[in-house]
Amino acid sequence: MSDCSDQMHNDCDEALENLYLYLDSELDEASSAKIRSHLEVCQECSKPFDFERRLRTVVRDRLNENVPDRLVDKVRQAIEAERMGSGN
Ligand SMILES: [Zn+2]
Repeated sequence: MSDCSDQMHNDCDEALENLYLYLDSELDEASSAKIRSHLEVCQECSKPFDFERRLRTVVRDRLNENVPDRLVDKVRQAIEAERMGSGN
């Protein structure tokens, strides 16, 4: 049982480490495929991936133009700051 969860944990680390590369399509096909299949079985990882993907879609949609990833990062940082601030 611990073997199983260790393996799962490694996959989670790898998936989250590559989150931005994956969303930016900067991973090679093999790595993307691995992450994609991990997201199908792991809810813990699919949440942050889903959040990021939706964030990018919404920002681009709202502004109806090409939004640089740098701006999306800024929005994300603002959201994170907001979350930390209200956490107290
Ligand atoms: Zn995972």
